[in-house]
Amino acid sequence: MVQMNDSNKFKVLTAIYSFYDLFLKDFSLACRKGCHVCCTVNIVATSIEAKYLLGSSFFDNPDPKKLLASMAMGSVYRPSLSTNQIADFCLRQEEFPPDTGKHGEGTCPFLDRVGLCSVYERRPFACRAMSSTEVCQNGSEADMEPFLITVNLAIHQIIEHLDKEGVSGNLIDVLNKLVNNQGINTDSSDSLVSNRALPGFLVSPDEQERFRAVMRRFADFQVGDTTLGSFFWDFL
Ligand code: SF4
Repeated sequence: MVQMNDSNKFKVLTAIYSFYDLFLKDFSLACRKGCHVCCTVNIVATSIEAKYLLGSSFFDNPDPKKLLASMAMGSVYRPSLSTNQIADFCLRQEEFPPDTGKHGEGTCPFLDRVGLCSVYERRPFACRAMSSTEVCQNGSEADMEPFLITVNLAIHQIIEHLDKEGVSGNLIDVLNKLVNNQGINTDSSDSLVSNRALPGFLVSPDEQERFRAVMRRFADFQVGDTTLGSFFWDFL
C-alpha cells in the first residue's frame, strides 16, 4: 500500500464503512435506532478512526480538550495487543500473552440522553461491527452468525493496516491523546498499542469460498475514480 495522508485515508476509511453497510444488508439483524446495549465505555478504535471522528460536529465545541477530558474514565477496556498482532500469533500458531484488559462498567460518553449516538456518522468500526440477530438485553451477548464474525475481524484488520503507522486503544484514550497533541507513538507505559501491517486473514476452511467472494466485492468497491482493491493490492 502506498503512503497516504490522512485525508486520503479518510476517503478509504469511509469507503470501507460504506462497503460494510451494503454487506450487512445480506444479514437479517434485530438492531434498530435507539438500541444501545452495546454502547459501552469499552470501545476500541484505531488512531485514523479517532481522527475521523474528531471531524464530527459534536466537537464544534469551544473547548474540545476539556470536553474529552471530562469523558476520560479510569476503568475501561484497554487492549494489550492489536488485532493484527493477535492474528499474527494465531497464523504462526504461537501462544500469545493473555489480554490483560478488563472491561469497565458504564455507557459510552457519546450516547445522548435519548439513547442515540452523538457521533453516529463517524462512529468507529467497532461500533458498526456490533450487531445481533436477536434483540440484545443488558448483560446478554449479541447473537451473530460465525461468518459475520470472520468478516468483522477481517475488516478490523484491514482498517488497522490502513493505519499501520498509528495506534489502537480505548476510543476515549486515543481521542484524548490526539486533542492534546501528544502524538500517537506508544511506549511501554502507554495505554495505546502500536498498529501492525496485516499478516493474513483468519478464515476457517469451510468459510474460504464465501470469504473470497466478499473480498472480491470489497476489492471492486469504488473509491472516487478507483477501487478499494487498488489500496490493498498487496493482500487482496
Ligand atoms: S460511539 Fe456511538 S455507536 Fe459507538 S458506542 Fe458510543 S454511542 Fe454507541
